[in-house]
Amino acid sequence: MINEDSNIQYLKGVGEKRAEALAKLGIFTVGDLLRYYPRTYRNLSKIKNISDTVLDEECCVKAIVDKKPVGAKNRKGLTLFKTRVTDGTGVLNITIFNNKFAAQSLNEGEEYIFYGKIGGNFTKKEMSSPEILKANGNKIIHPVYPQSQSINSKYIEKLVKSVFEINPKPCSDSVPLDIREKLCLPEINGSLKELHFPTNEDYFAEAKRRLVFEELFILQTGLLSLKGIKKAESKVIIDDFSEDFYATLPFKPTKAQSRAVNDCLKQMNSGFVMNRLLQGDVGSGKTMVAAALIHSAIKSGFQCAFMAPTEILANQHFATVKKFFESTDFNIQLLTGSTTAKNKREIKAKLQTGEIDILIGTHALIQDDVIFKNLGLVITDEQHRFGVNQRNALTGKGDDIPHTLVMSATPIPRTLALMIYGDLDISILDELPPGRQPIETYAVDSTKRERAYNYVKKHLDEGRQGYIVCPLVEESDVIQLASAEEFAKKLSETTFKDYNVGIVHGKMKPKDKDKVMQDFVSGKIQLLVSTTVIEVGVDVPNAVIMIIENAERFGLSQLHQLRGRIGRGKYKSTCILISDAENDTAISRLKIMAKTSDGFKIADEDLKLRGPGDFFGNRQHGLPEMKIAMLTDTFTLNEANTFAKEVLKNDPDLIKPENANLKKAVGNLFNKNKILN
Ligand code: ADP
Ligand code: MG
Repeated sequence: MINEDSNIQYLKGVGEKRAEALAKLGIFTVGDLLRYYPRTYRNLSKIKNISDTVLDEECCVKAIVDKKPVGAKNRKGLTLFKTRVTDGTGVLNITIFNNKFAAQSLNEGEEYIFYGKIGGNFTKKEMSSPEILKANGNKIIHPVYPQSQSINSKYIEKLVKSVFEINPKPCSDSVPLDIREKLCLPEINGSLKELHFPTNEDYFAEAKRRLVFEELFILQTGLLSLKGIKKAESKVIIDDFSEDFYATLPFKPTKAQSRAVNDCLKQMNSGFVMNRLLQGDVGSGKTMVAAALIHSAIKSGFQCAFMAPTEILANQHFATVKKFFESTDFNIQLLTGSTTAKNKREIKAKLQTGEIDILIGTHALIQDDVIFKNLGLVITDEQHRFGVNQRNALTGKGDDIPHTLVMSATPIPRTLALMIYGDLDISILDELPPGRQPIETYAVDSTKRERAYNYVKKHLDEGRQGYIVCPLVEESDVIQLASAEEFAKKLSETTFKDYNVGIVHGKMKPKDKDKVMQDFVSGKIQLLVSTTVIEVGVDVPNAVIMIIENAERFGLSQLHQLRGRIGRGKYKSTCILISDAENDTAISRLKIMAKTSDGFKIADEDLKLRGPGDFFGNRQHGLPEMKIAMLTDTFTLNEANTFAKEVLKNDPDLIKPENANLKKAVGNLFNKNKILN
């Protein structure tokens, strides 16, 4: 008997080719198929009179076929089948493109339901390639699945139906019975069936509630058990020397900074390992918090590692950290791809003897066979890149487990942070240092482009620098890439031919990219035309103007990140968003950008407007994709969190039989998405 673990190929009609196509949709097993939820539903119970239908409307009519459709080839060699249908109120012309099977299923004089968009004109209405159903009236709500080129919605519907026909109970329930009873949640198989083939509004709502809860519950259990693992004891005891550090600063820490430093120090002094996320808007002063912790760690006799996502950022952190510790005798070293072999050897040797106090470098390098004498604290600057996967690489390099702090520059709403970083404690810098010049932001359409360019020139002429960002939605998108590059090239040869223009894009070799970035940092390049790669935080205080083309294509949080590249110095900065978008959502999003500079507020709005799926753009969060749960559903999220905690409290390793299914689900979730190494 097939069940959720059965390979999809066990289903009738699924051969190797189909299996391959299904795999592309993430469907490998029967369980995956059952969790391939409908995108929406087609309600075929709302039948319209043909006379009442409106042009361009998607609707459903029930009508009798005049004559069996006849085929005729068009110029492209496709066969068009045409016929007319009528329901007594009007006549509708039906065209079926190149689908003999569908055309032949229509019999003269019989009644069918036609679902599709009304085209043609007022006197001669038509419907092209409608969905056609026998009008026997018993199944009226149809699931509509996300399709691919070779797998259509109908095919998936058929497969799902066949599963329930063979085995009405293919899935085991990963929500333990007592929780289901407490929350009055229906069991799994009925819920799944109802979600695919709704029978009743109330049942459907309950089924959905259950599946949403389940998804969040499994995720929370997974993340919390990761956190549990990390609540390990540690012999790395770091004392609080922060006041000494503050005394060396040219400024006072903000309240948020002191709070974050205190939270961290308390935990690093507790005898348990710290695993913490430091979240703060661009410019909120995360580096200072990191430096304060490094300072206390070194004073307590430990070494520190500071990892950055790119070489250029490692360089910048190196410079910043050195400046913070000017008045100390800390030994600070930089290890990047450009470090000579000889220096690398020397650095590695000195790390082992404990001569080096702080090692700064790129993720890859620091992880690579680097051995510390007594590593006490690892700081990772993740910028916007999330991911549970890489974080632990350094753990255990020394004899004792070091504390870790992950810095993220993407403000994310608390609910979401809880989801994504459920395995970490969180500190938030929700306050900017005083005296920041707000970045003026304008949203304009492309008729203002020339003016915007002139404004850029004016700043360049005054000795400032600027950015022009063109979107590249998918880095793999060849056409996109070409046009972004072409656009950049054209700009450098026409409008900005009298200036030094540099171009960076995602497809460049890291070395070439770093070279351009370095030239921009040093001021050799005046105007940097780029795709989103500059998102990853380069600090060029002299850059004061940014133009973002096709701004509607970026997520708000992305725009905010981009914008954070300017306004970093003493000059007033301006950001101009160019967009010809006409839809309301796009326009209101850009208006939010112009109105507020609070990253958390922007993130909240973004989440509300776009939903979590799009929130992170390329799904950089490293989290399993949520199939049904909306991360905005705070109530269920909290519920899931509470119950996950309870389950883990009573059964930390999920070894009790009543939690066996849950354990399996958690394992599946993380394995499939390769979160754990
Ligand atoms: P982030 O990494 O969070 O974007 P940085 O750590 O780069 O921000 O800090 C931005 C700038 O603000 C730096 O020049 C830093 O020296 C300065 N800064 C940090 N904290 C304060 C503070 N409390 N008061 C004034 N300036 C500060
Ligand atoms: Mg920074």
